[in-house]
Amino acid sequence: MSQPHVAVIGAGVVGLACATQLQLRGHPVTVIDPRPPGEHCSLGNAGCLSRASCVPLCLPGVWKKVPSYLLDQNGPLSIPPRYWARIAPWLWQFHRASAPSRVERTADALHALLTVTIDKWRPLAAHAGVPELIRQEGYAFAYESEAAFLGDARGRRLREARGVKIEVLTGGAVREFEPALSPSITHLVWLPEQGHVPNPLRLSQALAARLQAGGAQLLAAKARGFQLGDSRVRAVQTDAGPVECDAVVLAAGAHSAPLAAQLGSRVPLETERGYHVMLESPTVVPRIPVMSGEGKWFATPMEQGLRIAGTVELAGLDAEPDYARADALLEAGKRFLPGLAHGKVTKWMGHRPSLPDALPVIGPAPTIPNAFFAFGHGHVGLTGAPATAEIVADLVAGARPFIDLSPYAPNRF
Ligand SMILES: Cc1cc2nc3c(=O)[nH]c(=O)nc-3n(C[C@H](O)[C@H](O)[C@H](O)COP(=O)(O)OP(=O)(O)OC[C@H]3O[C@@H](n4cnc5c(N)ncnc54)[C@H](O)[C@@H]3O)c2cc1C
Repeated sequence: MSQPHVAVIGAGVVGLACATQLQLRGHPVTVIDPRPPGEHCSLGNAGCLSRASCVPLCLPGVWKKVPSYLLDQNGPLSIPPRYWARIAPWLWQFHRASAPSRVERTADALHALLTVTIDKWRPLAAHAGVPELIRQEGYAFAYESEAAFLGDARGRRLREARGVKIEVLTGGAVREFEPALSPSITHLVWLPEQGHVPNPLRLSQALAARLQAGGAQLLAAKARGFQLGDSRVRAVQTDAGPVECDAVVLAAGAHSAPLAAQLGSRVPLETERGYHVMLESPTVVPRIPVMSGEGKWFATPMEQGLRIAGTVELAGLDAEPDYARADALLEAGKRFLPGLAHGKVTKWMGHRPSLPDALPVIGPAPTIPNAFFAFGHGHVGLTGAPATAEIVADLVAGARPFIDLSPYAPNRF
C-alpha cells in the first residue's frame, strides 16, 4: 500500500529535514515555499550544532542584565521603543518561564531534543551527499573578565548536570588552545562534544536537491490556508492552487503563527531577529566556533570565510534591518581576533522563530489529527532539525516518538 502524501509548508532547515525523513520512510512529499530552499533564517545562522544548548535564554535573574543590555546600543539585546507595547505580553511569558523549577524542566526538554543532533544529522547529510558538512570538533565560550565567566555559572551547572563535558582554560592556556584570540580573553570554556556546519545554506540546498531526486515536488508558492473536511486537512491552499494531501507539516519558521491559528492553535510566536557579517578572505580565523561570553555572538569558521553572528533584536517581522547591529558585530569581532583583516563583507539579518519559553512547538494540532507542527526553534533550529524530523515522521506514521512531547505541545501556553 502506498504511503500517505505529506505537504510540508516551509523549506527552511526544519521543513527540509522533516521532508527528507518522510521521504526516507516512503512518503510522497510536496514542499511548499515561495523562497528557494534554506534562504530564510536557515541561511545565515552561526552554524553551531549545539548539543549542549540546554540553557534557555529565560534564566532566573536575566532581568537584572536587561537594562544594561538595552542601554548599550551595540549590546546583545535591542528593542526599538515602537515595539515595546507589542512585545510586552511575550516578555511577560518569558519572565514566567524563568522560574527556577521551570528552567530545570526546559533544560531537560532542550537536552532531550538537542543532544542527539550530530548522531541524527550524520545519516541525513550522508543521504544528501554532504557528510563533510557535519563536523564535531567542539566549540568554546570566551570571556574577557572573571566576573563575566562567573556570571554564566548557572548555565554551566545546567549543562554539567546533564552530562555535558566542559573544560575551563585560563591565562596562557587560552592562547595555547586558540592563538587567534585576543590576550584580553581571561577564561575559555571548551565544550569538546559540540559540532558545527561550515555552510548551513549548502546543507539545506543538498537536502532539497536530494528530495527532488527522490521524486519530491518543491512548489514555489505561499501557503495561504487549508481546505478542511471532517476535521482533517484535505488540501493546502497556495498561490499556485490547492495541494491535496493526506497530512500536513507546518514548518514555516517565524511565519507559522497565522497558519497555526487556522488549524486551531494560538501560539505566542515572536521573532528574535539576529544579524551576521560574513567576511571573505579573513586573515585570522579561529579553528572552531568561539562565542563571546559578554556579547553572545559566535565567530564561526565557514567555507566562505569567517562569519560573526548573533544578537537579539525584538522588532517584529516587518521592520527593515538595522545593519548598524551587524557593523557592531564586525567591530567586536576585530577586538576579539587581533589583526583580523578581510575582503568583501556581506551583512545579513534573519528571523529566529521564538516562543517565550525557549522551546519549539512540535506535535499534532490539538483538534486536527493529520496536521503536525514543527516550528519555533529559536536559537537552535539547525541543531534541533533532525530530531524534530524524526518525531514528525513518527507522528505521521502513528508511532510513538523517541521523546515525551508534552513540553513542546502547542497548547502549553
Ligand atoms: C544570527 C543567528 C544565529 C543563529 N545561530 C544558530 C546556530 O548556531 N545553531 C542553531 O542551531 N541555530 C541557530 N540559529 C537559529 C536557526 O537559524 C533557526 O532556528 C532556524 O533556521 C529555523 O529554521 P526554520 O526552518 O524553522 O525557519 P526558516 O529557515 O525561517 O524557514 C521557514 C521557511 O518557511 C517559509 N514560509 C514562511 N511562510 C510561508 C508560507 N505562508 N507558505 C510557505 N512557506 C512559508 C519561509 O519562506 C522559509 O523558507 C541562529 C539564528 C540567527 C538569526
